Amino acid sequence: MKNSLAPPLNVGFIGLGNMGTPMAGHLVAAGYRLHVMDAAAAAVRRFAEKHACETPRSQAELAAACPVVITMLPNGDIVREVLTGEDGVAAGLEPGAIVIDMSSSSPLGTRRLAEELQTRGITLVDAPVSGGVVKAKQGALSIMAGGDEEPVTRCALLFGAMGKVFHTGASGTGHAMKSLNNFLSAGTLALTAEAVLAGERFGLEPARMVDIINSSTGRSNSSEHKYPTFVLNRRFDSGFALGLMSKDLRLALELARAGGSASELIQDVAELWSRAEAQLGAAADNTEIVRYLEAISGVTTDD
Ligand code: NAD
Repeated sequence: MKNSLAPPLNVGFIGLGNMGTPMAGHLVAAGYRLHVMDAAAAAVRRFAEKHACETPRSQAELAAACPVVITMLPNGDIVREVLTGEDGVAAGLEPGAIVIDMSSSSPLGTRRLAEELQTRGITLVDAPVSGGVVKAKQGALSIMAGGDEEPVTRCALLFGAMGKVFHTGASGTGHAMKSLNNFLSAGTLALTAEAVLAGERFGLEPARMVDIINSSTGRSNSSEHKYPTFVLNRRFDSGFALGLMSKDLRLALELARAGGSASELIQDVAELWSRAEAQLGAAADNTEIVRYLEAISGVTTDD
């Protein structure tokens, strides 16, 4: 592909958490030369023990070596700080560099950041992902890329190493798509939990209910994947924090309000998740929304 960002190429990767670690691993496997950073030294150490990569000592060192930098961080405020804060990555990047923010960041914040970076000759592509840790490990994420077609197309080989890319349109639309997807994901999980709880109280058996829902019109990823894999077995270990889902709902609400659309359901779902976050803590697994709903309806399934 002409002008494509093909391996071997120096790629900066910042954020080696639950998602970033397997994503960066796929890039190494595809032949990219990774320069990895994370606020947690242990995360960098673990990654470097497993994969051939560079471990720059500063953001400036990373920026100087890499024409492409990927961020996979908790939120857009942190992405902005890492890029444009004091000694941030952007100051060290050459004009023509591309930053790909694969975190779930604010669509509105991303538009502003893209404009700011453009004044330095740096292109920002927003490319958040869906599929969770399971698909990240499989290299089968759904990637929602916002930005001009040319840079998104140039990133095709990078994206292809991590999953399947969809160009969503102008800058910020990838992040918009992601927050709206997660509104649906959070909403269906809470709806499924309420249905299962109500059914259980009426004498239905939860696992049987989930089987039937999955052969019926009420099914969703929450019933087909999250319930059998993380909820019915009481493992609650999807690797996606409740606080991050709650953040995504705030972003969806911000987006809907900015566009002036009716956002009653988004607000209700966002408030529900924010109460659950206050109760269980941001680090709880997102699937523990089920535990929260059980607790407020007086059901105690855990011993
Ligand atoms: P995580 O908390 O596991 O990882 C985030 C990493 O960022 C951590 O390793 C942390 O140390 C690092 N970090 C934080 N601040 C930093 C800084 N200033 N400089 C360098 N590193 C810093 O989160 P995650 O689950 O990997 O999620 C990352 C992003 O992907 C989030 O935006 C999340 O909403 C999104 N996301 C997560 C999932 C999932 O299933 N976990 C799925 C889709 C999207």
